[in-house]
Amino acid sequence: MIRRPTTAHAIGSATVCGGGNAAHVLVPLMAQAGWQVRVFAPFADEAQRLRAHMTTGGGTMARFAGGRSVRGQACCISADAAEVIPGAGLILLALPAYAHGPTLAAIAPYLEEGVTIVALPARSGFDLQARATLEMGALSPTVAGLQTLPWACRVTEYGREVNVLGTKARVDLAAVPGDSAAQVVDILRPLLGVNLQPITSFLALTLANTGQLIHPGIMYGRCRGREDQTYAEEEIPLFYQGLDSFTVGLLEALSDEVQAVAGALARQLLDFDPEEVTPLYDWLLAAYPEAIEDAGSLRQAFNSNRAYAGLRLPVRAVDDGRYVVDFEARYLSEDVPHGLVVVRGIAELARVPTPTIDTVIDWAQERLGRCYLDGSGLCGPDVHRSRAPQAYGVTDLVQLCPDGGAS
Ligand code: NAD
Repeated sequence: MIRRPTTAHAIGSATVCGGGNAAHVLVPLMAQAGWQVRVFAPFADEAQRLRAHMTTGGGTMARFAGGRSVRGQACCISADAAEVIPGAGLILLALPAYAHGPTLAAIAPYLEEGVTIVALPARSGFDLQARATLEMGALSPTVAGLQTLPWACRVTEYGREVNVLGTKARVDLAAVPGDSAAQVVDILRPLLGVNLQPITSFLALTLANTGQLIHPGIMYGRCRGREDQTYAEEEIPLFYQGLDSFTVGLLEALSDEVQAVAGALARQLLDFDPEEVTPLYDWLLAAYPEAIEDAGSLRQAFNSNRAYAGLRLPVRAVDDGRYVVDFEARYLSEDVPHGLVVVRGIAELARVPTPTIDTVIDWAQERLGRCYLDGSGLCGPDVHRSRAPQAYGVTDLVQLCPDGGAS
């Protein structure tokens, strides 16, 4: 059970983990809803910097597109989990996926019975990592994840203000135990003001993670064969908009392979619903119904999506005032080991070939200096750094879904 307010005005206790864009949106939303909000921010000097603004003078302002503003403050911010985790009924991980592991390990000793932990977004394999990290005997937290972050948001003044550029029209949520997803949605939906929808399986949430297709797929489509190209500032290509036909075809092929994996799982697991894994094009139209001006094709939907306007390839400066593509950026460093590699691992368990996913992983792992795919199998030396089932010793679907009715 979540420690929820017992009356409409009672106060629940929540801790937001992270000090970035998403955390800046969550703190005012939750404080405004009457929750007592604390922040766990162990990264660099964030706790100190946040304390200066987020705990005083009304706290942080979230400015939403359309004119709505929400202000609210945290009551305590610390880099020490012992100060902000005990007593929390709800813990929200507003973090990139590579920070989930260290954060779960840091908070584990202080979790109390009945706690619910939610990752926004979960990315892929979050349930496997949580299960492995939170082996805590009698204590069994509810673990939930969102298919994506509900907002496109950017901090404009650290600790003080964040701009919410857009809110997705629908975001799916899965939980372990599976039947708690609806209850977590009941708590979070009014709190976040987002149309959250419960789905039955974390495995489906992992396959439905569209970031793992879009981000590495576009990086591959835009950058393969041009890895060393330099750009003047004004030449840095747009990321999502202006996609060429090769890249759009690649994104469609990646999505088709995920659908094939979902279909195979539905044949092998009695409780798996492939309808919970939305194809990329359908997801894009459902997530951005207002922002997309031309929904006629996947290519047009990307190119006319106002929520993607102006976002460019991730770059880093080099000596002469020019820029090169930053292959360490999250589009690969988060979405490959905590995304595409996880799907590849599940495909291997379901015995589904994934030639397009393999091509993208092969290229991306070279950019990242890692080796996940070795030859034709997911047995490279860096698999343990990913969230593929194989990293947790899972070798078949029965182990992957102990209660999933493997046939
Ligand atoms: P952010 O970069 O603003 O903040 C991330 C925070 O995570 C940091 O401030 C820090 O507190 C923590 N962190 C980062 N690296 C860490 C590390 N190595 N160890 C411990 N903590 C670390 O990120 P964000 O924009 O808030 O995004 C959070 C998640 O949401 C990411 O997965 C991102 O890909 C996803 N997302 C963001 C947006 C957006 O518009 N901001 C949109 C879609 C998805």
